[in-house]
Amino acid sequence: MTHDIDVLVVGAGPVGSALAADMLRRDLRVRLIDKAPHAFEGSRAKGVQPRTQEVFEDLGVLAEAHAEGGTYPLLGIHLGPITVPWRMQRRYEPTPEVPHPNILLLPQSRTDAILHRLLDRLGLRIEFGVALEGFEQDGDGVTATLSSGERVRSKYLVGADGGGSAVRKSAGLQFAGETDQSDRTLIVDATIDGLSRKRWHVWPRPGGRFVGACPLPHSEQFQLMFRLKPEEAPEVDEAALAARFHSLTGLRLRDVTWTSVFRPNIRIVEHYRAGRVFVAGDAAHVHTPAGAQGLNTGVQDAYNLGWKLGQVIAGAPDSLLDSYEAERRPVAARVLGRSTELYAGLDQRKLASLKRGDEERQIGLSYRGGPLAPADGLATKTLQVGDRAPDAPCTGPGVSRLFDAYRGPHFTLLAFGPTAIGTLPELAWPDGGAELRCYAVRSEGDGDQSSLADTTGQVARIYGITGDVLILIRPDGYIGNIIGSDWSAGFAATAKGLAP
Ligand SMILES: Cc1cc2nc3c(=O)[nH]c(=O)nc-3n(C[C@H](O)[C@H](O)[C@H](O)COP(=O)(O)OP(=O)(O)OC[C@H]3O[C@@H](n4cnc5c(N)ncnc54)[C@H](O)[C@@H]3O)c2cc1C
Repeated sequence: MTHDIDVLVVGAGPVGSALAADMLRRDLRVRLIDKAPHAFEGSRAKGVQPRTQEVFEDLGVLAEAHAEGGTYPLLGIHLGPITVPWRMQRRYEPTPEVPHPNILLLPQSRTDAILHRLLDRLGLRIEFGVALEGFEQDGDGVTATLSSGERVRSKYLVGADGGGSAVRKSAGLQFAGETDQSDRTLIVDATIDGLSRKRWHVWPRPGGRFVGACPLPHSEQFQLMFRLKPEEAPEVDEAALAARFHSLTGLRLRDVTWTSVFRPNIRIVEHYRAGRVFVAGDAAHVHTPAGAQGLNTGVQDAYNLGWKLGQVIAGAPDSLLDSYEAERRPVAARVLGRSTELYAGLDQRKLASLKRGDEERQIGLSYRGGPLAPADGLATKTLQVGDRAPDAPCTGPGVSRLFDAYRGPHFTLLAFGPTAIGTLPELAWPDGGAELRCYAVRSEGDGDQSSLADTTGQVARIYGITGDVLILIRPDGYIGNIIGSDWSAGFAATAKGLAP
């Protein structure tokens, strides 16, 4: 049976939208459906972590995200008549290797809108008001039934359809874990008169039932959180919310634009793949919002899966798609544990549980030891196969830092030292799938299109270079291989696993 499209993506939240954008720039034929009548309108996931900002930079939307977002204010903990300032996030200075080191405060509706505008520029119309009703798959593709009655035949189907994922359920994938029905938080977007916008206000209450109000950038609004009592049925009309907030804080709340009751689910799917069907984002893992990881982990899922689908559709081995679960499931399992730990701290009213550290930034995440990054592979002084490829200043045609050279859907090969550089013309890369861009990295530039000048020595320092070496960077910015001898054969073996 012929295929109408390459990939049907279900769910136009941040994860489905990021995935669709990545695949469109690989020239795949994509459709993106969402059962909601329009884009999501609340502030829900408001923390964009440093690694996600790097993904947004690669997709070309980071400037918009920075323009529409802001920095996280200090917490202001209201203890009777005094307000104690408390730094939840340490501020980091940008470094050559980590250009965007701090979490960005950006309401989810704006993140979604930025990605939707990108999709529009890439020529995709999101099909709102269209739900996935079911699908069947065979060895050659997936036939999905949509609520419009249409049947769509695609090579692959990805469920980025949130925690209640219809794709996950239809694929029969178990979602192991727990939901604590008694623990709920009411989330509200509203304006508060007379409250300083310089603090994320927290009013502690007995039993961890705090009230919080975080100012949302470039607006008059706050995101409010009311941790509810187990038996409580909250009233969410504006008058009731205003009365409740006034009785707790003495302040006036008005102009409510969004409300939601959140239950901390802690679940992870047993498999990320069922044949030609994949799940990503909340469809694959849900956890507490503590640590601002959900959206970020989901966008990283999309970034890991997009290039693999592109390569396999172009003819790369199917095993590349198995590496999606092998690389991403351990990350989600770890996030689940960490966010549960931070959330439990709120119950115990531990100030330490309000501290966010390095792990949350997702910069140090590595796929070391996974199927694409054997633990016994060659390492440099600073990097191993599977690690994030850091940024570093350098100069070349249209390039003033390594991230400029990496930006786009291609693989990048950096050659250091005369022997490694000399092998570049001998290395074979297939015509199909993602392109390979090769650069000779030298201390002085020679103006050549495929040369990068490391005049400050920062590239060599950050990449831990001590001798002749080839470093392959995957399209998602992780180190695909480090080759220090047997150049052509070593490179051919790597290419065989990643390319058609
Ligand atoms: C209170 C709260 C605070 C949070 N704070 C943070 C934070 O600070 N940082 C962070 O990273 N994360 C946070 N999260 C988590 C974050 O909101 C989610 O992880 C994120 O929205 C997941 O994105 P997604 O694209 O996977 O799913 P969603 O955003 O849920 O999108 C799924 C989409 O699929 C559509 N859909 C569902 N079923 C179907 C169907 N059958 N057919 C077609 N379409 C369908 C839905 O309409 C929806 O648009 C928070 C969550 C909550 C509740």
